[in-house]
Amino acid sequence: KPIEQTDIAIIGAGPSGAAAAAWLAGRGHQVRVLERGHFPRFSIGESLLPQCMPHLAACGLMESVVDAGYQHKNGAAFCHGERYAAIDFRDKYTAGPGTTWQVERADFDQRLINGAMAHGARVDFGMTVTGFNADSQTPSLEIINQQGEQSTLQARFVLDASGYGRVLARLEQLDRPSTLPPRAALFTHVEDHISAADHDREKILIGVHPEHQGIWYWLIPFSNGRASIGVVGDPQQLDGVADDDSSRLWTLLRQEPRFARLLENAVPTRDIQRLAGYSADIESLHGPGFAILGNAGEFLDPVFSSGVTIALDSAVRAAPLVERQLEGNTIDWASEFEAPLREGIATFRDFVDAWYDGSLQTIIFHQRQEPRLREMIASVLAGYAWDKSNPYVAVSRRRIKTLAERCAMDAAPLSPGNETL
Ligand code: FAD
Repeated sequence: KPIEQTDIAIIGAGPSGAAAAAWLAGRGHQVRVLERGHFPRFSIGESLLPQCMPHLAACGLMESVVDAGYQHKNGAAFCHGERYAAIDFRDKYTAGPGTTWQVERADFDQRLINGAMAHGARVDFGMTVTGFNADSQTPSLEIINQQGEQSTLQARFVLDASGYGRVLARLEQLDRPSTLPPRAALFTHVEDHISAADHDREKILIGVHPEHQGIWYWLIPFSNGRASIGVVGDPQQLDGVADDDSSRLWTLLRQEPRFARLLENAVPTRDIQRLAGYSADIESLHGPGFAILGNAGEFLDPVFSSGVTIALDSAVRAAPLVERQLEGNTIDWASEFEAPLREGIATFRDFVDAWYDGSLQTIIFHQRQEPRLREMIASVLAGYAWDKSNPYVAVSRRRIKTLAERCAMDAAPLSPGNETL
């Protein structure tokens, strides 16, 4: 069985793998990415957050995507029955870009990994990682190619960016159940044929089912007249709607008045797809000779489009630490990588929990919101979940609860600082 060597081995060529590969290869390191699929390939996760933009720039990947012609995105709109609320990410508390894109991931992921290759990373497609030998000096991967041939890749450090493959979580028995209940998503792409003047293509539209608060929809327009549409909910509740996934998706979409109206002329361009049980957690994001990026670690929920942001954030946190470790420094991966990464994820988790318990919906649809508070909420929804100067990052759960109670009472507009009174 052949044995090969590299400095850094990366499992998976999605956004987190491509970003880490680009950063490290761009600094002259020897990087080898192993990807089991062949690109371009479909992936879900199409609405980015503005926090992605500095991360792409930090990895030298902005040039790879800036001219792609993606749909400009400046916020998120929410609807529930007659209620409609638009959040503009440019009106936010934290400094940084307020706009981003809505992307077809087949193209986006291809461009990112091409960018990593242009920086010098070697990427092998059609290579599946099947085994791992943890070692603080020389971790190694067992690989199988599409002809069934096995090989070993020895590295000085391994980054697991395998997304839902969760390679090291499985092989190192690090999996732990998510605290979020299991949910399922049904989705497809359509030629949307939306001509409604009141529809803003520059925002993701999130709709809440008229009767079931736990069922929600997304509409993510692309720049080419197509859009990604989907519905998320408790799997049994979704199954009870109709006999097959296509009927379930379209029946539910027609139950929400705005989605029904916007999508009345939509023509699907893909089969309906179902993903379930995607929320996942992990005991540790690092171990001897390895660290875990993006979805291969913890994944929450798609409602706030935080997945790619967290994936890129994990990559730009890990890559400089890998470099320092290869230079002979001792890295405390728990305090320098895992703890700060998890802080932002915890903020998103508080927002996700508050979405499903209804409190965030109460806040979002409350019309008389104090502008500064709206900016703080907008900051987190724009992906700036690591800015501890934002009170809704620092102690998000308690603040959201208190603010929702005030909104529910339709109290007078609140000022920053006294919303906890
Ligand atoms: P991935 O993009 O999953 O890439 C992992 C790669 O690893 C894949 O190419 C895979 O083929 C490869 N791989 C896996 N196993 C192996 C192996 N054994 N050997 C070699 N290669 C392997 N995020 C957003 O930001 N915005 C959204 O709007 C959004 N919507 C979503 C909707 C739904 C329904 C769901 C479930 C998720 C959504 N997400 C969204 C999340 C988003 O899909 C992920 O967070 C994002 O793709 C994670 O990137 P990644 O690089 O960690 O992993």
